[in-house]
Amino acid sequence: MKKLKVWIATAISCFSGLSQANIQRPNIIFFLVDDMGWQDTSVPFYHEKTPLNQKFHTPNMERLAAQGMKFTQAYACSVCSPSRTSLMTGMNAARHRVTNWTLRKNQTVDAKDDDLKFPDWNLNGLQPINVESINQTIAATTLPELLRTNGYFTIHCGKAHWGAESTPGANPLNLGFDVNIGGHCAGGLGSYQGIHNFSAAWRNNDRIWDIPGLEKYFGKDINLTDALTLEAKSALDSSLQIGNPFYLYMAHYAVHIPLEPHHQFYQKYKDRGLDDAEAMYASMIEGMDKSLGDLMDYLEEKGIAQNTVILFMSDNGGLSAHGRGGVSNTHNLPLNSGKGSAYEGGIREPMIVKWSGKVKPDTQCDDYLIIEDFFPTILEIAGVRKYKTRQKVDGISFLPMLLQKGTRSQDRDLFWHFPNNWGPQGPGIGATSTIRSGDWKLIYWYKDRHFDLFNIRNDIGEQNNLATTHPEKVKQLASKLGKYLRKVGAQRPSYKGSGEIAPWPDQCMDK
Ligand code: CA
Repeated sequence: MKKLKVWIATAISCFSGLSQANIQRPNIIFFLVDDMGWQDTSVPFYHEKTPLNQKFHTPNMERLAAQGMKFTQAYACSVCSPSRTSLMTGMNAARHRVTNWTLRKNQTVDAKDDDLKFPDWNLNGLQPINVESINQTIAATTLPELLRTNGYFTIHCGKAHWGAESTPGANPLNLGFDVNIGGHCAGGLGSYQGIHNFSAAWRNNDRIWDIPGLEKYFGKDINLTDALTLEAKSALDSSLQIGNPFYLYMAHYAVHIPLEPHHQFYQKYKDRGLDDAEAMYASMIEGMDKSLGDLMDYLEEKGIAQNTVILFMSDNGGLSAHGRGGVSNTHNLPLNSGKGSAYEGGIREPMIVKWSGKVKPDTQCDDYLIIEDFFPTILEIAGVRKYKTRQKVDGISFLPMLLQKGTRSQDRDLFWHFPNNWGPQGPGIGATSTIRSGDWKLIYWYKDRHFDLFNIRNDIGEQNNLATTHPEKVKQLASKLGKYLRKVGAQRPSYKGSGEIAPWPDQCMDK
């Protein structure tokens, strides 16, 4: 924090001229939860309260939803890095090519497959635009960089997970943030417990998972989620001193594994009869929710709640293929499957936006949107209308939906692209490309070149594959999907046997 204080002293003198001009710009908090499922909350995102909504307790998400707009069809990618790169660049994953999760330089995390060889995806992750010398990266103009250029004080708090280890992109300070609290290359963590120094040493795991920069909490009885919240509030104090609007990217490590109890809430869930793993998970969810509440309280105490936009989102579906209590692949019901899956359980997220005076309280939007849409939306909220990016931005602003001035989801198709192998087994998990077009969703499987076709409105659980009964719809959507993938330069797996690259979806309609 010493560096931060020096920075603030300099920044106050540099920014004082800007602060008057920016006085009407809203502050922005992007509250991103890691691996949180659509149903991991007491806020109902389905048309009825589900048993999972009864299981989890998130009073501050309820409070946020009562003050803002709830989105029932908000999508992300099925794993971390693709979503986070899309957020930072506005690009679809098929275009930025960070299609699986990143960690070590020049090392793929793709699990081996008997039949498929996976493409040379951008496994070194996101890099600043001045970095040209690293292979397999996407260098792009980032969202916080544009916000900072336009007078925002930009704070990164929590999980970064952009550039691979020892690349410039591993450090959020190289990607447009003025402050970095606890972010580095890793997408997981050593421990949630201060008594374990947030390190993986206690479970004899790789120290790459150790969270940097939180030494002051080492040995203390504090949960990581709470420590990050305290640090975020401290950074906000600094921001208020400077007087510029702030962008707080509050990206919790929670609720990623390892499952560990958040002690303030854990016993409550044990007493309710949850098994140990699920009691830990539910306590991690409520700990995350408390962080949201603490930040909302802070804004109210400082008198800036009215002029601070809060966007709540998760980066992929809830983990369900392994590592949880109960029955695998049921943790996101009524959605099928979970993290890593092309099915709704892997990609549909809990999303809420609060903006006093602009977004009508206690409202709901059922139009769909996707993670890269946050990029242009946040810039529009910030009043940044003219900007240049190195990359082609695919995202479309959902501001009209927020302001109830129309939808952007009519006549718009959404695309997902995962030419990789995550590893764990489960429904919808594999090398796939997907299109959502209105109520219809088509998934193309590279391994055996078959299609899944679902009507999401009628079959949210994706139980009835209509591909054989609706060949014309398959043809139509496969054509759109193939066209899109070619346009953005998507990569494809190849077959180990023949060495041939897998066909585009519209090239194997007879399969
Ligand atoms: Ca994640």
